[in-house]
Amino acid sequence: MKYVLVTGGVVSGLGKGVTASSIGVVLKACGLRITSIKIDPYLNTDAGTMSPFEHGEVFVLDDGGEVDLDLGNYERFLDVTLTRNNNITTGKIYQSVLEKERRGDYLGKTVQVVPHITDAIKNSIESVAIIPVDGKEGPADVCVIELGGTVGDIESMPFIEALRQLSFSVGQDNFCLVHVSLIPVLGVVGEQKTKPTQHSVRELRALGLTPHLLACRSAQPLLENTKEKLSQFCHVPAANILNIHDVPNIWHVPLLLRNQNAHLSILKQLNLLDLATTPALQDWTRMAETFDNLTESVRIALVGKYVGLSDSYLSVVKALLHACIACSLKPSIDWIAASDLEDDSARLTPEAHATAWETLRNAACVLVPGGFGDRGVTGMILAAKYARENKVPYLGICLGMQISVIEFARSVLGLERANSNEFDDKTPNPVVIFMPEGSRTHMGNTMRLGSRKTLFQTPDCITSKLYQNSEYVEERHRHRYEVNPEFIGILEESGLKFFGRDESGNRMEILELPTHPFYVGVQFHPEFKSRPARPSALFLGLILAATGQLEAYLGRHQNGS
Ligand code: GLN
Repeated sequence: MKYVLVTGGVVSGLGKGVTASSIGVVLKACGLRITSIKIDPYLNTDAGTMSPFEHGEVFVLDDGGEVDLDLGNYERFLDVTLTRNNNITTGKIYQSVLEKERRGDYLGKTVQVVPHITDAIKNSIESVAIIPVDGKEGPADVCVIELGGTVGDIESMPFIEALRQLSFSVGQDNFCLVHVSLIPVLGVVGEQKTKPTQHSVRELRALGLTPHLLACRSAQPLLENTKEKLSQFCHVPAANILNIHDVPNIWHVPLLLRNQNAHLSILKQLNLLDLATTPALQDWTRMAETFDNLTESVRIALVGKYVGLSDSYLSVVKALLHACIACSLKPSIDWIAASDLEDDSARLTPEAHATAWETLRNAACVLVPGGFGDRGVTGMILAAKYARENKVPYLGICLGMQISVIEFARSVLGLERANSNEFDDKTPNPVVIFMPEGSRTHMGNTMRLGSRKTLFQTPDCITSKLYQNSEYVEERHRHRYEVNPEFIGILEESGLKFFGRDESGNRMEILELPTHPFYVGVQFHPEFKSRPARPSALFLGLILAATGQLEAYLGRHQNGS
């Protein structure tokens, strides 16, 4: 196994994840098979309990792993399916070491960070790296490892030490270190400053790791003499100093790397030049250029709880982008804090209330994404009602589907207090209830997580057609509550149809309102499997409906073209 380690220096938020995945893309384009590992030095075992407000979305994998959103970048860029083990955290490592300690596996020895934690890290990396993630058999050729955080952080020290040992044990030809750094420009002098990078490389070297390549983030392209300085002071050949300057969209990054022959430097270090071909990146070039040249846009109202931080819904935003690009449109996302739509807000923050409603009315479609807790639920119900009554295309994802059931039960069935037990455990009309797959009383692990099958009940519905008339779909889940089977009969009689169900027939997975041009709710999260060149069927449906092209599209599809 060959490793490419990507570390970061100077500041966080440099786009290390995008850089690492782009390196993967370029190497993949050279004909190599790539896998990836993200190391998060935080103590959480996984991202499952982390707030999207603070850390961005929790990405969900096929195997039910709740992981850092960077894994989403890897899946989208490399078109792979990762496992929960591809996200290594301090919490996971300590948990495994402590479990071994309790079992007495260390035979009376003092258990220490070095060597026990560092050994566990190395073992974990080596065993995860060989898991095939691209649908083929056998291990990949190269494993790209991204070390989260910034070099010098206290919590990343054991990882740095373990990676140093790994680099030594796998040998020179099998290890390539790319250090991502920042080249700031000071306003007054206008000069590209190399000192922060020098310091962070020095820090890395003091810890026993020498970067083979530098990936320098900057606003403008690097000047030749900045590169020379970096090369001289950081001990990195000029040809290995890459520059990732600001680009109009992230799909340019693999192209930028290829244009600077990053692949040649990396392949040379890894002694892979003989095996690799010239990188074929036509698809990326086309996507990046198409995106740059889009002129028309479509307004999408995203009504959610965590709208302050766009990373909270990163995969939803990406899925919208993929769908829009497929329709030659630029997504124009209008973020609406659901609570601003509520009547209370009209009294307390009238301006925000008025703006939220105006934004909603100006949108071509409405999307209510997943979420937990009751904040903003009333506003989401109002948004779903608005979309249903005004025949505005609506896509409700997970919580968004449950919202549409509550709204329909209240407005159409006249069950005024209909609710989900998540928000009101005493409601007389629990249309959404706690339905764990395991035991109801068993503590923990009550979330329904990961890929599950949804069977279409009829081919004669929009969603089935969008999914190319497949008999079933496999999408990823992350929820505890579900539509109450006792209400299905009456909801369906009144027009809300559950066209997708799980294999037992008890869990409602897809709903549609056939009298509406596009009113779709799904209990799963289609955003996690959307890919740049393969947009999610449902997001595509939403955008097509928002721009009046859905019928024609479905018609064309029916005719087999
Ligand atoms: N809170 C809801 C549930 O647990 C919805 C979850 C979600 O939207 N991911 O079922």
